[in-house]
Amino acid sequence: IDTKLPKVGTTIFSVMSQLAVEHKAVNLGQGFPDFEPPQALRDAVARAMGEGKNQYAPGIGLQSLREQIALKTERMYGRRINADTDVTVTSGATEALFAAIAAVVSAGDEVIVFDPAYDSYEPAIDLQGAKAVHIPLTVPSFGIDWQQVRDAITPRTRMILVNSPHNPSGAVLSSGDLDELAAIVRDTNIIVLSDEVYEHIVFDGALHQSVLRHAELAERSIVVSSFGKTYHCTGWKVGYAVAPKALSAEFRKVHQYLTFCTFHPAQVAFAEFMASTPEHYLELPAFYQAKRDRFRDLIKPSRLKLLDVPGGYFQLVDYSAIRDESDVAFCEWLVKEGGVAAIPLTPFYDKAPNTRLVRLCFAKSDATMEAAAERLCKL
Ligand code: PMP
Ligand code: GLN
Repeated sequence: IDTKLPKVGTTIFSVMSQLAVEHKAVNLGQGFPDFEPPQALRDAVARAMGEGKNQYAPGIGLQSLREQIALKTERMYGRRINADTDVTVTSGATEALFAAIAAVVSAGDEVIVFDPAYDSYEPAIDLQGAKAVHIPLTVPSFGIDWQQVRDAITPRTRMILVNSPHNPSGAVLSSGDLDELAAIVRDTNIIVLSDEVYEHIVFDGALHQSVLRHAELAERSIVVSSFGKTYHCTGWKVGYAVAPKALSAEFRKVHQYLTFCTFHPAQVAFAEFMASTPEHYLELPAFYQAKRDRFRDLIKPSRLKLLDVPGGYFQLVDYSAIRDESDVAFCEWLVKEGGVAAIPLTPFYDKAPNTRLVRLCFAKSDATMEAAAERLCKL
């Protein structure tokens, strides 16, 4: 049959997780924690099921949860948003990204994405009959060259998609970057889609520069986050989108017919847990910074060269001292012969540069990091 997505195969995350199982490798590939969500949060989900919260939730999300999201947004970013009109709970950030793109982007439009880009963006753009315009991030800092962005704007540019902290590099946007972005979209009809799923994982005392901190950008942005990253429960698939009323109304038209609503017991649990334990997200930077530092110490004796990690839960490493081959070939070799699953960067690119970088996930227990490091130090 005719395919609408000729470039799409099985995602690199599924491929590498499958290979990790087959080769009994330590899986530092697909990004997910190998430790459990807080016990109180798991208990709250079970309790919600026991108390009969098993039918459809309100389509836009449980009011108590939307209120907690609004509270958090004000506390973290100093922006007061309306829980009823500006917040929509979704089935993971993946749904929110898709709904945002489908709601805003039409056939023939252009969407600027920065490569390496998370893999779900481009298929969502393609399915609208729109075109992804790829701008490479600078290597090795993975920053944005704003002159390139200005040069790429056309009358058809409808959206700019940013991701900070960035997957796979961990790079973060600065307040200066937000000012550059604001100047570019000023007096245009360009909407910003800001993927901030790692918003609470920013290191070394830096503040997460959410577009919600920026009054001008917040007025024309859809900001997406994920409870999976913040509460160590990627399998629950709960996320949300924040956008001003008129933009949220368009977003909700798509969300309503994409999923209608999101898993009800988890929404009850997140609302309770956010109210009782706000320190969870406040302590997340220190929690993951300790993991980052532990992992870096463990693999320091290896022949891998470590890039800086300002945020997120991935470490990029340069393997050129070990093997001179493409990142995809290296990851295949590493999972089979080295016993560690990693993620190559090539699948995140339209035109991949010939770098020797792969991504390792450090959202792992000490035991997993130690087992992986022992193998990596033997390469
Ligand atoms: N965006 C980025 C940058 C991600 O890394 C991920 C998850 N790996 C997602 C979106 C999707 O999040 P969710 O699992 O909540 O759908
Ligand atoms: N976001 C996760 C990663 O980057 C993977 C999510 C998925 O497998 N779709 O590893």
